[in-house]
Amino acid sequence: MIPESFIADRPTSLRRRPGYGVIARYRDWLPVSESDPVISLGEGSTPLVAAEKLSEILHCETWIKVEGANPTGSFKDRGMTVALSVAAGQAVQAVVCASTGNTSASAAAYAAKAGLSTIVLLPAGRIATGKLAQAIVHGAKVVQIDANFDDCLELARKLAHEYPVALVNSVNPNRIEGQKTAAFEVIDELGDAPEVHVVPVGNAGNISAYWRGYTQYMSAGKATRTPRMWGFQADGAAPLVLGHPVLQPETVATAIRIGNPASAEQALAARDESGGLIEAVSDQQILDAQAFLAREEGIFVEPASAAGVAGLLAKQQRGEIESGLKIAVTVTGHGLKDIDAALSRLGPIHAEVVTADLLAVATVCGLLD
Ligand SMILES: *Cc1c(COP(=O)(O)O)cnc(C)c1O
Repeated sequence: MIPESFIADRPTSLRRRPGYGVIARYRDWLPVSESDPVISLGEGSTPLVAAEKLSEILHCETWIKVEGANPTGSFKDRGMTVALSVAAGQAVQAVVCASTGNTSASAAAYAAKAGLSTIVLLPAGRIATGKLAQAIVHGAKVVQIDANFDDCLELARKLAHEYPVALVNSVNPNRIEGQKTAAFEVIDELGDAPEVHVVPVGNAGNISAYWRGYTQYMSAGKATRTPRMWGFQADGAAPLVLGHPVLQPETVATAIRIGNPASAEQALAARDESGGLIEAVSDQQILDAQAFLAREEGIFVEPASAAGVAGLLAKQQRGEIESGLKIAVTVTGHGLKDIDAALSRLGPIHAEVVTADLLAVATVCGLLD
């Protein structure tokens, strides 16, 4: 039998494990009070991988921040641990989000951990199955709305206003606070900020969060500089590049298929204050970058996550990248979330059937050539 004292003690001691999760690591920088329970799945502290092939192509020292390594497979977990910890400290029954996928996957997991229920409002139509599966498996109530993402977000806001429900989209400031810790980690690891930081841009919360993290850390003397922020949208969903909302956003990169970004103002401020830019890349460039990351760097990301690398490769081809820069690029979510998109360019999965014979196998594998 397990002694009762062990059962009583264990969860608390686990939650207090040093360095376990974003709140444990960066508590002084986050709006979590002593009375809030810490709802963590051990997010953050993701790999910063030296990208040798990409560095060679760009003639720049390039680092890839692999956010697909978070517990639910995207950077959303950094913000969700803070949003759910604060929500759990208040008298709410449920959390609600409008989502194209990863926000709902993360919200559902963290709400399950917190003992709260989750409501997900989805625009009816295309959503990556992996993400929907996550929300459903974690027990979320998923409601498809016959409208676009922006309408879903408006409904979610109203639901949170009228009922004991916390809104956990990135318009919840606690989300951005948690997400800024990725910039802290880059500085902690590299010893200073890079000269350029590259991110995909959808609802524009993440680029704003990185900029906040970089500026706060520099003000505290933890870095000597802030990077230029380079954001990349998809051609068919590029409101920040066009300068106006896009009514029918369309791109294979579903996580950035957003026509009217909630954090547009902060993202444009991040761009301008950092001396950076926000540009667009085509779906083909995104899928090429996804394949490049998988085959050359060993990192499998979902299409939206490859937009930053696609942007870097496109700028390099146009001769727009100075040699010798120190660049960090965030890949935002795991490739397994959307295998249909990843396989779409390859056709049906094809693996030859061969007799169980050493020579036959070696021949098929081209080892005899
Ligand atoms: C949410 C998300 C984005 C877009 O981030 P924003 O903060 O909305 O700009 C990009 N990639 C992935 C994988 C995401 O989940």
